[in-house]
Amino acid sequence: MKSHAKVVVIGGGVVGCSVLFHLARHGWTDVVLLERDELTSGSTWHAAGGMHTINGDPNVAKLQKYTINLYKEIEELSGQATGVHLTGGVLLAATEARLDWLRGVVAKGRYLGIELEEISPNEAAELMPLLDPKQFVGAVRNKEDGHLDPSGVTHAYAKAARKLGAEVERFTKVEDIVRRVDGLWRVITNKGEVVAEHVVNAGGLWAREVGRMVGLELPVLAMEHMYLITEDMPEVAAWNAKTGTEIIHAVDFDGELYLRQERGGMLMGTYEKANKPWSEYQTPWNFGHELLAPDIDRIAPSLEVGFRHFPAFQNTGIKQIINGPFTFAPDGNPLVGPVRGLPGFWVACGVMAGFSQGGGVGLALSNWMIEGDPGADIWAMDVARYGDWATMAYTNAKVRENYSRRFSIRFPNEELPAGRPLKTTPVYDLLSAKGAQWGVAYGLEVPLWYAPEGVKDEFSWRRSSDFTQIAKEVATVRDGVGLSEISSFAKYKVTGEGAAAWLDRMLACKLPKPGRMTLAPMLKEDGRLIGDFTLANLGPLDRDGEGWFLAGSGIAEQYHMRWFEKHLPDDGSVRIEALGAKLTGLSIAGPKARDVLAKATRSDVSNAAFPFMAIGRMDIGMAPCLVGRVSYTGDLGYEMWVAPEYQRAAFQALMAAGEEFGIGLFGSRALNALRLEKNYGSWGREYRPIYGPLEAGLDRFVAYGKEADFIGKAAALTERKQGGKLRLRAFIVDADDADVIGDEPIWFDGAVRGWVTSGGYAHHSKKSVAVGYVPKEIADESDGFEIELLGKRHAARMQATPLFDANFERMRA
Ligand SMILES: Cc1cc2nc3c(=O)[nH]c(=O)nc-3n(C[C@H](O)[C@H](O)[C@H](O)COP(=O)(O)OP(=O)(O)OC[C@H]3O[C@@H](n4cnc5c(N)ncnc54)[C@H](O)[C@@H]3O)c2cc1C
Repeated sequence: MKSHAKVVVIGGGVVGCSVLFHLARHGWTDVVLLERDELTSGSTWHAAGGMHTINGDPNVAKLQKYTINLYKEIEELSGQATGVHLTGGVLLAATEARLDWLRGVVAKGRYLGIELEEISPNEAAELMPLLDPKQFVGAVRNKEDGHLDPSGVTHAYAKAARKLGAEVERFTKVEDIVRRVDGLWRVITNKGEVVAEHVVNAGGLWAREVGRMVGLELPVLAMEHMYLITEDMPEVAAWNAKTGTEIIHAVDFDGELYLRQERGGMLMGTYEKANKPWSEYQTPWNFGHELLAPDIDRIAPSLEVGFRHFPAFQNTGIKQIINGPFTFAPDGNPLVGPVRGLPGFWVACGVMAGFSQGGGVGLALSNWMIEGDPGADIWAMDVARYGDWATMAYTNAKVRENYSRRFSIRFPNEELPAGRPLKTTPVYDLLSAKGAQWGVAYGLEVPLWYAPEGVKDEFSWRRSSDFTQIAKEVATVRDGVGLSEISSFAKYKVTGEGAAAWLDRMLACKLPKPGRMTLAPMLKEDGRLIGDFTLANLGPLDRDGEGWFLAGSGIAEQYHMRWFEKHLPDDGSVRIEALGAKLTGLSIAGPKARDVLAKATRSDVSNAAFPFMAIGRMDIGMAPCLVGRVSYTGDLGYEMWVAPEYQRAAFQALMAAGEEFGIGLFGSRALNALRLEKNYGSWGREYRPIYGPLEAGLDRFVAYGKEADFIGKAAALTERKQGGKLRLRAFIVDADDADVIGDEPIWFDGAVRGWVTSGGYAHHSKKSVAVGYVPKEIADESDGFEIELLGKRHAARMQATPLFDANFERMRA
């Protein structure tokens, strides 16, 4: 075994071998994979080997497509058969709600280049002869569905990597990992030590244990999973003889089943509701090639449905039941990327669909390690989407929920209950008493809307029970004044003598003067967005000396801290702190907002003394607050930041002051309706690391000419010169009873040309709004667009100026 390597990859399952292959293919050949046993000694060997392109997140779906297309290449490179059978498949719907969901999947496929086609149950039965068409209302055909040999694929990755110069050390168990003072990693094994610049945790079933070696508690949990294999079936033999082809794959969502041919019989797997975690606290090191005891009672309810939906199963015997464990993150997507606070330590774990996702994970991670960027939008897989709040108990609750819902529909207005409430702010009970319906963002409970007595969310793809109430909340803001809780924003404090110069380099905007705020896009080296913030210069206002305040997307706190910390100078001249729950927030907005604030404070908040984008310290009632004159509602408004111990007092002072002005509460759904009619984008939707500032319409906040050489400046100047490829645009949709959610295709002139990033109903303007990206060549057309919604194309008109307050008179008043 070599004593030094650029990279040590820990784990020889399908994921570790894919990472090794991709590193070597990308040019890093001084890489070694350490496997404690034979390759495939974790989940990989007993997998059912199914693969498909469908994923709830379009960016993950793209990587799944990449993975499936890769098998041919690694087979040729390695000479190792992968056993790929691209049979195609049918996705089956037994209810109308499921069919609506499938239509959304077909629609997304159009711009992802995934060929999907809606077919009738009878057409599905012609393709998959075992199903009873009477049990279904519709289906979708997917040509990129199939199965493979799990061991063959893993060995093909490993052999191809070796051919490119990588090394694989089997029977080499990593026992400890220690960071040296020079930043290199000592990887200590039962056969000696390797010193490496980078370590990749691809430990699969043992990823938690490998993480613990560096003090990391990863949010992953293994679940038992069962599939059965039948005796040979005459129906299968007859079909094979008649068509000369295998029986195609089927996913029966309502039965929570997946099926495929296995030799002369069938394989049927299920994600049962009464699921069971495996080794909740500690995966035993002596586990390897054994299977778990099957428990047919647990899967019996699913099998009953299966036998009804696929009647031929009633006449066949079960040859074998496989029960094996594999790991999940709380939301079921992988955990990939560099770990904040551990430079050179990377993870590639929690991969629950290794044969659909392993290739994409390897590609993204190798790009990230070698180029400094994953090269794709992989937010849905980024390990930074979780923070310290994703504890072991939280993970346990969420993984079990996610497993039991693997094939369930999640409606756009559906909030999942497991692991909640976890983080709450001091006004939680006060808002609950007013009818707050809660959602969750980065572990924190956030008020979505306020339900009148006896009304609650009815889950639907269409406008639902909250529609009338959201209209009222919007009217409260636009016609008078509304109050909302805004603690879910991420808040950062930047201090130190080097702070201004550092921010000037990190952010693409011009730095504001003391007491002022600005919108602040943050770019990567390739000139694309990596953040958008409100930056405030606290200057003399800051009690600890010169300081800066940043507010940004709450879900991206860890993501942004990882980026900030990577770029901090070593000399300690700049300090940045994520304030998290140390600072809570309230906001008031609407034409009467200033009247309320003036009544609640002794400070002068007149337009002359406290104009748009001013920031200052003032007491609200008795509570000391930092108040900024800005509002995401696009109206006259204020954001107030307050230490949690004062949040209730500030809330009560504002509500009391607002009484005579008719103050009411509004939640994040109303806020969405308000920001849409102002064309305001949001991080994670409109603003993502694949778009440039010009494309995203944030170029007006980029100080291209400023002296500081901000990160991404050269690339941003090129984008400005060459015009980029896309443009973010708002559309008014001729919708009937449903509005866009996000990820719907935008048609122009009979072809799919773009995609929706978000939208909804703008209650004040009484318009259904969609926001999305289209190629710049058609970005100035006003008509001819259509947006596909629940399987139907709706006419859409481009809306160039904001529907509300296009001249910014209200917010600057
Ligand atoms: C019953 C069942 C059916 C499944 N069906 C499918 C399917 O149809 N399609 C699909 O895509 N996925 C399926 N899966 C899931 C799939 O198996 C996983 O997604 C995949 O195997 C994860 O691979 P991995 O490399 O991350 O982890 P693992 O396969 O667990 O590999 C981790 C490796 O790391 C090694 N290791 C760990 N710690 C150390 C250490 N300290 N030192 C050295 N080596 C170490 C282990 O020995 C192991 O070989 C199924 C899983 C099960 C259990």
